[in-house]
Amino acid sequence: MGFVVTHFLGAGLIGHLYRKYVNQNLPILFVFFVALGGILPDGDFVLNRLLISFEYFYPFLAHGGITHTPFFALIFLVVGFLILLIKRDWAKYVFAVTLGVFIHICIDFFLGGGGIEGLMLFYPFSLGRFYLYPGSDPMEHMFISAVIDGVIFLVWMSYMFFRKNFRNLF
Ligand SMILES: [Zn+2]
Repeated sequence: MGFVVTHFLGAGLIGHLYRKYVNQNLPILFVFFVALGGILPDGDFVLNRLLISFEYFYPFLAHGGITHTPFFALIFLVVGFLILLIKRDWAKYVFAVTLGVFIHICIDFFLGGGGIEGLMLFYPFSLGRFYLYPGSDPMEHMFISAVIDGVIFLVWMSYMFFRKNFRNLF
């Protein structure tokens, strides 16, 4: 399970490297949208909690369901291509979200996340779930994820401090 910091900064870092080494013409906003896309699939967690509080429950919206499938990323990719035909300038941001969603799925696959039984990588063709957890015990797994999240946060904050950007944060 990756937490918010892992997903936001993990996706943001890859977006940053893409902008730096592959396409320097992209605006910094591109990186931000990759990072946002990186946390989007976990929106199912919030949405599901909200629905349950109104006594609705849709199994396909349960955490780690449809929003954690490559199919979900593909929807953004298709929307991106459609926007490319209409409003060319905006398409790159939708592609950025697509990349972020895809990175989220990869992080959850490798660190374990979404559904406890794994991710439906071949949805809608198969409901089979796959994962590559570092631990089998859910509590231990949660603990490892929290530690990874904390370490990434500390490394990032230290990096900001030494780059002298720290004062801009507050
Ligand atoms: Zn997730």
